[in-house]
Amino acid sequence: MGSAIKIPKSPISHPQFHRLLLAWFDRCRRDLPWRRSRDPYAIWVSEIMLQQTQVATVIPYFQRFLEAFPTVADLAAAKESEVLRLWEGLGYYRRARDLHRAAQQIIADHDGRIPQEPAVLAALPGIGRYTVGAILSQAFDQRLPILETNSQRVLCRLFGQRGDPRRGGTRRWLWEMAEALLPARRVGAFNQALMELGALVCTPTAPRCEACPVYALCTARRRGIQEQIPERSDPPAAVAIQEAAVVLYRGRRVLFVQRPQQGRWAGLWEFPHAPLEKGERPEETAARLLPQLTGMDGAIRSELLTLRHSVTHHRITMICFQAHYQGGSFRSDFYRRARWVAPAELKAFPVSAPQRRVAQFLLQPNRQLNLF
Ligand code: SF4
Repeated sequence: MGSAIKIPKSPISHPQFHRLLLAWFDRCRRDLPWRRSRDPYAIWVSEIMLQQTQVATVIPYFQRFLEAFPTVADLAAAKESEVLRLWEGLGYYRRARDLHRAAQQIIADHDGRIPQEPAVLAALPGIGRYTVGAILSQAFDQRLPILETNSQRVLCRLFGQRGDPRRGGTRRWLWEMAEALLPARRVGAFNQALMELGALVCTPTAPRCEACPVYALCTARRRGIQEQIPERSDPPAAVAIQEAAVVLYRGRRVLFVQRPQQGRWAGLWEFPHAPLEKGERPEETAARLLPQLTGMDGAIRSELLTLRHSVTHHRITMICFQAHYQGGSFRSDFYRRARWVAPAELKAFPVSAPQRRVAQFLLQPNRQLNLF
């Protein structure tokens, strides 16, 4: 694919492009908390949170995180469970674990200072080429490009580039173009302006070309092909999965188990759950999974609630049962640890969003009356 890609030369005047884009950014940019400082630590946290997550969702998480861990040293000294707890609901928990490990490496190997050498920064966990460019251009005005969904859409349209921006030759062309376009000064502002234009004006569908500061320079707009760029492939088909989960009571406490350190939701706590096997009814799965996953026996009593949630292209329906402990002690090839916890204490544990909904359900006042 690489050699077949037509590489358009830049048809625009770079100084004019810089002037128009930066003037628009100065006028129209959103006032976001991480834009109020050039602290590389705050920029780094915001950039990691913004991966795969909307700006509006990130703002309260960012503020809580910076209040709890105002410096790299505070983050490095925190327990992993505290970091995960503050990340709860943002998803993609690996980002939080990598951030925490990288902070510890910065303290151990870099005197507590975020490295300003791109290759050194890129060697830290969870920091790729985009994050290196974002941190170093915004905090130190280093002349480094960035490329993410918004800026790549703007560049493809600006130059009429029709290839798939995630692949091969188009991907390489995009990085080259993002670098070639950089101004001599205000590089961080320029990078943010490209992303901001993609977020606010040059949107995936129905771009607002009439409000665009670089309208006169745009190839896709001139040819009327802006809605066809960039090329999009169909998302994978949704897969429906049914699961059963068990809230196992022993007296007034419930069994809570910790997932392994690898894989999805690594290190988070949960009520044990498993997918239904072929031909199995949910209550049969519930009865099977307790001894299989925890080594304990329980009498399945009643259905508590049904939750629906999505993980990537999986649409998961989880039916939760209440059960009462009958015997056995914790033994598992999957879970790392188990605790018996009063429902009111579950809020101290880092859990995934659907599991938090189960924990909150257990605290409903009417439900407490009906428990025993
Ligand atoms: Fe995007 Fe339209 Fe601006 Fe071109 S003119 S960059 S398509 S908003």
